[in-house]
Amino acid sequence: MESKSTKIVIAHRGASGYLPEHTLASKAMAYAMQPDFLEQDLVLSKDDIPIVIHDIYLETVTDVIEKFPDRKRADGRYYVIDFTYHELLELQVSERFDTKTKKPIYKNRFPLDKSTFKLNSLQDEIELIQGLNKSTGNNIGIYPEIKDPAFHLKEGKDISKIVLETLSSYGYKNKNDACILQCFDVEELKRIRKELHSKLFLVQLTEAEDSSSSLQSYTDYADGVGPWYKQISPEYIVEAHDLGLTVHAFTFRADDLGEFESFDALLNYGFNTLDLDGIFTDFPDKAVQFLKK
Ligand code: CA
Repeated sequence: MESKSTKIVIAHRGASGYLPEHTLASKAMAYAMQPDFLEQDLVLSKDDIPIVIHDIYLETVTDVIEKFPDRKRADGRYYVIDFTYHELLELQVSERFDTKTKKPIYKNRFPLDKSTFKLNSLQDEIELIQGLNKSTGNNIGIYPEIKDPAFHLKEGKDISKIVLETLSSYGYKNKNDACILQCFDVEELKRIRKELHSKLFLVQLTEAEDSSSSLQSYTDYADGVGPWYKQISPEYIVEAHDLGLTVHAFTFRADDLGEFESFDALLNYGFNTLDLDGIFTDFPDKAVQFLKK
């Protein structure tokens, strides 16, 4: 895909700086901002439907505690995997909040408990994006993430197999299709390539600072690496590029600037100082505008 060789913008959980993450509203808004890809985090429902949600838990972005008070596990948490797709559709989604204080994580974002937002399946979201591609004439891609495959396996579910089947049924099969598949779990991403024989563009997400040997080991099965931008240097990116790996770093937020004086300064650091190939951002409009300048 040609866009993978130039700098790209990935709408992290949609336009999540403006609307509750991973809702179709957030995805439609992000789509209109014309990023290159929209991201989907995926967790299976009880009836094996891939649901677009960041955590394996429900209580940090929904009203599950009020709607299904008896459905928590012994650890006090409410698991996506314990609910059927139709039960999940009953939940009201809101901006991410702290369950203890009931305060939003990002205080200047969309207010809690306003309007109506729902969870949706991967299928719902692909149909939204492919429908918009048809009606607008654009070709915006999807960037699904397999969440916690080891947890799913412990629950008796092969999430990667199910997600790959869904992707394939919507035409996402090869590296030149508008789809990048990401996962933090090294063994699982290897399995996706070598045992499940996926030909998709694969990105190895990574939380720790990678050594040269781990970067080298990714080239055996992955096409790119997805590090936290705070843990990498320009040298890391040169090394990754020399190995043929694309680098897409997370997560650029206009309301979490750290040491940077403006979001443009942070974007300049990512795209120019680090020379990243792409960024995950909660504010895709600002990143798209930055690249146009
Ligand atoms: Ca993600």
